[in-house]
Amino acid sequence: MRALTGSELLSLWEHGASRHALDRSALLAAAARPDWPAEAIADLPLGAVNASLLQLRAACFGARIDGHADCPRCGQRLAFALDARELLAPAHDDDLTPREAEVAGLRVRAPSLRDLAAVAADADAERAARELLARCTLAGDAARLDEAALRAVEEGLDALDPQADLALALQCVACGHADLVQLDAGQLLWEEIEARALVLLREVHHLASAYGWSEAQILALTPARRASYLAMVGAA
Ligand SMILES: [Zn+2]
Repeated sequence: MRALTGSELLSLWEHGASRHALDRSALLAAAARPDWPAEAIADLPLGAVNASLLQLRAACFGARIDGHADCPRCGQRLAFALDARELLAPAHDDDLTPREAEVAGLRVRAPSLRDLAAVAADADAERAARELLARCTLAGDAARLDEAALRAVEEGLDALDPQADLALALQCVACGHADLVQLDAGQLLWEEIEARALVLLREVHHLASAYGWSEAQILALTPARRASYLAMVGAA
């Protein structure tokens, strides 16, 4: 996967800024995989979408991910660093066929961005999870399952699409509490795009002010040339 050019990145940032996070992930996945039909992305298995987002992030910003999470017990902010490639299971990258499985008497399929978006407004996490399962149930009655069967279905869905749910095990340095932190591939990519867009806009501003060049001309410069000119005008 190739990195985005400066003008592609600015265009994505401009179009993504006002969107809901899930809608933005679809936009970013379409940029990552121009070979996928854009209208199909919302219905692809989440794992394939997550993989495309992590690959684009690695291509544009490097594989290292620096993030942080707050300890749910004591509130301590925990920093973590990981390699995007550790989160990627290459075997599934290009597998866009609907993934289905039989588990606990149900026939289920892997969830998509459209499924997540449909339940995103529900503040009750348990009700949202049940609604999500109902959407992804192709045959059988998910409402009749007990706790143990629900857990089995959850594990079945994880096995069906391992990259749908990106989690990292973290232990709190302050209180020792160990927990799984959910990683949002769309958010991890978006934060980088937003930060880079603001840097690019500032660079355009400095060079356009100094030389009168257009935005397109400035963005077409290689990063090395742009940095040299920025140093010459005292804006590096
Ligand atoms: Zn803690």
